[in-house]
Amino acid sequence: MEPVTQQMPTANTVAGADKRKRIALFGSTGSIGKQALDVIEKNPDRFTVAILTAHSSHDLLIEQAKKFQPSVVVIANEGKYNVVKHALASTSIKVMAGEKAIEEAAAIDDYDIMLQAIVGFAGLRPTLKAIEAGKSIALANKETLVVAGDIIMQLAVEKRVPVIPVDSEHSAIFQCLVGEARNKIEKIVLTASGGPFLGKKPNYLVNVKREHALQHPNWSMGAKISIDSATLMNKGLEMIEARWLFNLKPDQIQIIIHPQSIIHSMVQFEDGSIKAQMGLPDMKLPIQYALSFPQRIANNFPRYDFSRSSQLTFEPPDTRTFRNLSLATEALQKGGNLPAIMNAANEIAVYGFLRNRIGFLDMTEVIERTMEKMPFIVQPSLQEYFDSDGEARNFAASMINL
Ligand code: NAD
Ligand code: MG
Repeated sequence: MEPVTQQMPTANTVAGADKRKRIALFGSTGSIGKQALDVIEKNPDRFTVAILTAHSSHDLLIEQAKKFQPSVVVIANEGKYNVVKHALASTSIKVMAGEKAIEEAAAIDDYDIMLQAIVGFAGLRPTLKAIEAGKSIALANKETLVVAGDIIMQLAVEKRVPVIPVDSEHSAIFQCLVGEARNKIEKIVLTASGGPFLGKKPNYLVNVKREHALQHPNWSMGAKISIDSATLMNKGLEMIEARWLFNLKPDQIQIIIHPQSIIHSMVQFEDGSIKAQMGLPDMKLPIQYALSFPQRIANNFPRYDFSRSSQLTFEPPDTRTFRNLSLATEALQKGGNLPAIMNAANEIAVYGFLRNRIGFLDMTEVIERTMEKMPFIVQPSLQEYFDSDGEARNFAASMINL
């Protein structure tokens, strides 16, 4: 990457005031975080970086901080505080450490939009803090909505905060809905690539290993979402994410396997008309769109070319083999704290699989048993969501001896 020139803005400058959007990038060292910094670097007249956070990749965080000069960096792993502080001693960047500091940073009033790219349940609390502070949210972290979507979206409405999806399917739907505010959605169609094991059966999956499962055919992503894509839990989480983002009923959401990942998702309106958003699979586009919305920014990303012979194919998902999708459908339909329980058990199961403690198909067993055992709450409070998460985690972990 070339160094960022912190040049003065041109087009967006009014009477000397800096109109650039100040971005708080939570999870900057991850797959989404790094791609977001690429987008920001290419658009120095539109975006600046206000906050960077990471869990424990201190070297990359330091490198990013030196390059993008945020006002605050946070390292969640407190053991890394001294090394980050020392490395940035000659700058004016404030260094904070610890999980709580991530939340505190979200409440600092020196940014315009939070790009939430932390993975897992850990993204929920900082997102709540940002919404409470009235900040716009560009949301990559789907787990936030899976766990507490009703509370998050209600709070966002009260605070008049836009929640703009970064997940490619949801960005596609969001883009299809521009200009359609008064028109009812009949249903949405979420496309799924099918992951690396499309067409495989349980007798194959039982022997699948970590390295194999991490290889996604179309997208290069963090470890957790790569495993979720291989088990189809990712699509399950995305159904629940879509339900809250677009205020849908469970039966308005359909999943279809589309292995080429060119159609990123579709909306069908009441007159039967279907809109699709298409393009090559590249997360930089939904990231850029969420940051620049409602504008589009010209770029030189590779284009999809219809004249090259290629086929777009569709098939229903194999939910008998990929049972996580059935479990997620049950969680979507029952609601309450069941999605939070499912999400927690899934995080533990994926963690166990990534550490070779359990097999590929065992992940589904862990999730299913946790969903059966945990007490159901119809309308949980925020605290009850947190408690359900904690209890489900403990139960799932006890099953796999973590
Ligand atoms: P990743 O594992 O590559 O990066 C995760 C980031 O979160 C890192 O910066 C890490 O330091 C930070 N982090 C991890 N645990 C943390 C904790 N406990 N506290 C604070 N920070 C923590 O993940 P990713 O693939 O970039 O995915 C991020 C989120 O975006 C996920 O929710 C994922 O589902 C969603 N998403 C990702 C993609 C993709 O292409 N990678 C696409 C759609 C949605
Ligand atoms: Mg997605």
